[in-house]
Amino acid sequence: TIVNCPLVASQRRRLSWVQLAGHKGSFKACDEGSILKKFSENEKLCFEHLQEDSLKPFIPGYSGLVEMDGELFLKLTDLLAHFQMPNVMDCKMGVRTYLEEELVRARVKPKLRQDLFTKMLEVDSEAPSAEERQQQAVTKPRYMQWRESLSSTHTLGFRIEGIKRGETCNTDFKKTRSREDVTRTFNDFVEGNKNIIVREFLRTGSTCSNSYICRLEDIKQALKVSQFFKKHEVIGSSLLFIHDQTERAEVWLIDFGKTTALPDGQTLDHYRPWEEGNREDGYLWGFDNLLQTLFSLTAT
Ligand code: ATP
Ligand code: MG
Ligand code: MG
Repeated sequence: TIVNCPLVASQRRRLSWVQLAGHKGSFKACDEGSILKKFSENEKLCFEHLQEDSLKPFIPGYSGLVEMDGELFLKLTDLLAHFQMPNVMDCKMGVRTYLEEELVRARVKPKLRQDLFTKMLEVDSEAPSAEERQQQAVTKPRYMQWRESLSSTHTLGFRIEGIKRGETCNTDFKKTRSREDVTRTFNDFVEGNKNIIVREFLRTGSTCSNSYICRLEDIKQALKVSQFFKKHEVIGSSLLFIHDQTERAEVWLIDFGKTTALPDGQTLDHYRPWEEGNREDGYLWGFDNLLQTLFSLTAT
């Protein structure tokens, strides 16, 4: 299904702002070049931590909390502001999209969700078990695990959440799972333009902004030395891909709502398979698969 883009900003020059994931209403337009995201303590802590980290050049600028109409927001740079009618893609990273603590909670005190049962039925009427059908509800981890298994989260360690291309947004990638489908979707996203994927690495300042692979290589270097990354379970975070007609191409790390600090002294390598209790997220494994997917497009 192709739906109209939910345009958040009202200003003329910001007509191309899009939200490819999350609840409508969790973002507000702000002064030029900024957006407001609904406050969460967790995400605030992450942004504060990240100000001192090697990943800082790859996350939206963060300028603290703002209160509007009695609600709290994080004020972030609008990453689309410098583009002309860009194509935008949200890739959710990792082999797992829920926290271990959510799994434990659902086991100890299952909260049955009718809304998620309905969403499940809409995609696949066969998906709910007999028991779930009887309850007309599912738990959140069950829904999340089902979404993971339909998509490329388990098999590739990332999945496509949404794409804006030209005037239209598409968030119907729930069943995009195979390497072939994912590769084709990337190719459609760049409209076959290989320059956007790989080009002679031209750096402006310290980072690259003219091809996705170059930018991802920079991010990978930063991830390798990041203290923040080493000490956090990174769940539900995305890479936001943005390019436009001028062939400017950027990738940014966004969404730290579920990125959680590990207990003191514990670290992750972000490659090892996840087993409950080890808190691994498969972020780097997915990152390598993503790079490979892009490289494969340049070879054809
Ligand atoms: P969810 O947890 O369901 O993914 P969320 O409420 O945590 O959603 P985000 O994932 O942070 O929200 O953002 C949702 C969408 O909003 C992104 O897919 C992207 O399209 C847009 N977006 C988020 N942050 C920015 C930003 N700084 N600049 C431009 N666009 C952004
Ligand atoms: Mg998100
Ligand atoms: Mg989120």
